[in-house]
Amino acid sequence: MTGRFLGAAITLFAMLGLVAPAAGQTLVLEGGRIIIGDGSAPIENGAVVVENGKITQVGLAASVKAPAGAMRINARGKTILPTLIDTHTHPGQTKEDLDRDLARRAYFGISAVMSLGIDTDAYPYQLRAAQPADSPRYFMAGRGITTPEPGRGQEPYWISSVAEGIGAVRESAARNVDIIKIWVDSRNGQYNKLSPDLYGPIIAEAHKNNLRATAHIYDLADAKGLLRANVDAFAHGVRDTDVDDEFMALLAQRPDFVLNPNMGSRGAVADVSWLRSSLPAADYEKVEAANTANPRAAELHAIQARNLKKMSDAGVTIVMGTDGNTPYAPHFEMEDMVLAGLTPMKVLVSATGDAAKFLRIPDAGTIAAGKTADILVLDGNPLEDIKNTRRINTVYLKGVPVDRKSYP
Ligand SMILES: [Zn+2]
Repeated sequence: MTGRFLGAAITLFAMLGLVAPAAGQTLVLEGGRIIIGDGSAPIENGAVVVENGKITQVGLAASVKAPAGAMRINARGKTILPTLIDTHTHPGQTKEDLDRDLARRAYFGISAVMSLGIDTDAYPYQLRAAQPADSPRYFMAGRGITTPEPGRGQEPYWISSVAEGIGAVRESAARNVDIIKIWVDSRNGQYNKLSPDLYGPIIAEAHKNNLRATAHIYDLADAKGLLRANVDAFAHGVRDTDVDDEFMALLAQRPDFVLNPNMGSRGAVADVSWLRSSLPAADYEKVEAANTANPRAAELHAIQARNLKKMSDAGVTIVMGTDGNTPYAPHFEMEDMVLAGLTPMKVLVSATGDAAKFLRIPDAGTIAAGKTADILVLDGNPLEDIKNTRRINTVYLKGVPVDRKSYP
């Protein structure tokens, strides 16, 4: 935490009659409901001990021993869970933009993001190498890979041959990206999308370089082809039609496969009022203006919702991811996933424990001894109503509260 933010946090806690926990302060969050993040039953009336930015004890409040000198924080009536992880984002690239985009995510309880395929500047690489303690962790695909898509952004590699595809993977591997992103989408018939003879060797080359490949898809036929080519994840669900038995049979052979459903607009008017107190007035007005019903979007969303439910029921690992650069989007995406038929617990795991595994963050994603103290404290119970993830009380990154006094 920078001096400025720490100073503001101390002021806030002083206003509330509390002393702000500083970095390294031993904390005990006492009396809350703890959602671990691995799908296990919540602990009611639990306690979490944080020492030096790490969780050191978790259990029933009665059985946890508060270390001497610990700051005790009353969490009765609140819910304690891991901070959220957004596995599919496209944040800004300059220092000013990316720092702001990540600060906004911290404000909304998000502690890690993956940028999926439009990282062109030097700063994202620097930030990922530095991973500052007071900022969400940053992961990246670097430049993703697609066919030439004139008129669309030229951040990705535009490739037309196997040699170019393999070259793009090798260059990405040399930059030590976290995943290879490919797009397989004709954009409504405008382009020749990546064909199996191109994406097959790209995925194989990624695997040779110890990298996974995730695919932006649209059509069921491509989803099947990609599964046959051993793609590791989808960055969207199947959107053109309901998945069929052949698709489910292909999936059944791939126990490690991961779906980021990323369903996009629900096409229905949503409750956006919770954002009013956070966003600047002009930004909030834009959100309200865009909050309209769209029957075509609703139809497409319904296909994806059915496909998500079917894949989740079949045991496919689901990770939450939102696309774009909307810092609070996870709170809407999680509501959409529950409306698709997933339980709130399943959805929370997709945004915490399973997302951490997908991003290969071994030290976070669950509330457990030994994990980094990236902790979200809510004023409501998200297992009763997933929209309670929006009732944020405190966000801790590495045991230090994020200053939420004003929107970054
Ligand atoms: Zn995307």
